[in-house]
Amino acid sequence: MDPSDWRAETLVGHVGRHPESHSGAVNVPVHRASTIVFDKVGDIDEAKKHRFDKGQVFYGRFGTPDTFAFEDAISQLEGGYGSIAVPSGLAACVLPLVAFLKPGDHVLVTDAVYEPVRTSLGAFIARNGIEVTYYDPRIGAGIAALFKPNTRLVYLESPGSLTFEVQDIPAICKAARERGVITVCDNTWATALFCKPMALGVDIVAQSATKFIVGHSDAMLGLVTCGAEHYRALREAANWLGYHASPDDVYLAARGLRTLAARLRQHQESGLALASWLETMPQVRRVIHPGLPSHPDHSIWKRDFEGASGLFAIVLNTSSMQQATAFIESLKLFALGFSWGGFESLVLHGDPAHARTATQWTEEGVLVRLYIGLEHIDDLKRDLAQGLQHINLAKIDARASAG
Ligand SMILES: *Cc1c(COP(=O)(O)O)cnc(C)c1O
Repeated sequence: MDPSDWRAETLVGHVGRHPESHSGAVNVPVHRASTIVFDKVGDIDEAKKHRFDKGQVFYGRFGTPDTFAFEDAISQLEGGYGSIAVPSGLAACVLPLVAFLKPGDHVLVTDAVYEPVRTSLGAFIARNGIEVTYYDPRIGAGIAALFKPNTRLVYLESPGSLTFEVQDIPAICKAARERGVITVCDNTWATALFCKPMALGVDIVAQSATKFIVGHSDAMLGLVTCGAEHYRALREAANWLGYHASPDDVYLAARGLRTLAARLRQHQESGLALASWLETMPQVRRVIHPGLPSHPDHSIWKRDFEGASGLFAIVLNTSSMQQATAFIESLKLFALGFSWGGFESLVLHGDPAHARTATQWTEEGVLVRLYIGLEHIDDLKRDLAQGLQHINLAKIDARASAG
């Protein structure tokens, strides 16, 4: 049986382990190292020459055998030549920008980009004489009109943060490829199990392993995956920046990876069921979940994705932050906090109107992001149902009839 025939569930359990190289241990042991010692002057010189090659031990900052095994695993799943483990998801998103953009360049960025990436772009990319244009995430092939002679890179994220627009990745990448423009896509929401951006035409995949891959809210890690043509430049840039992924965090991420498929299946099932049920609740104006037929980009999601993770948003039938707060704070199983991808459910209020510049968010009602964890769906549903009762519909109705 050839690993290239294995399904995702099988692959996540078997990629990047190599028990035969680790005294039979099922998992790759943690290799903590700064100094790597060599026997001969010739050996250290040789290692230095190859320090950016895959799997080359040289100095701790360049990675150790556990980092290399984990990077190989992710690369196989994404269908790339190689992956680079970096200290956080944000570090992964920023790495291709630093590696490929230089003063005078122009970069196109989706308007629904993870907000800290927008902050990084403003703080040091734009400051370095690089022009940033945000574009409507739903632009599709229309992106062709935004290219300039100096456009060097297009940044995608699908679905978008907070508002979950699904991008037409193949159409955008085709337009970029015709002009020799590099494409980068944030694949954190779907992971390689539910979407393979490289197969859809993307050059470089960035993702936060902090979320689903680590899966237990106890480590931070990012990954950049690419083809052979971009690998060396990204590896070198990671080194200039001094990026180093902690071996302990890599271990946790590799361990999380083994159960990723089973966890995602449950997040998807509970997420879809709760999203459909929320659509029937009077306190909810709209549910924004790409896996629901009511989502405006549902057909693109169906075409390009193999599943949906447990993260989506609802727009409440009230614009009162006081009512939204009452709902959020009454929840017992949904803790209020950033991030997602762990075993536990989370809730967060969002404000897309202030995080968009190319498009406008004019929808009435408070947007609340829900992350559906691995708790039993009946308990989650009961919790949400009691929480929604804190939204006083009588007040909404009174306002509506008052015009
Ligand atoms: C969380 C997140 C990131 C950043 O990941 P960290 O590991 O928290 O730095 C990047 N992109 C998306 C879409 C995210 O949700």
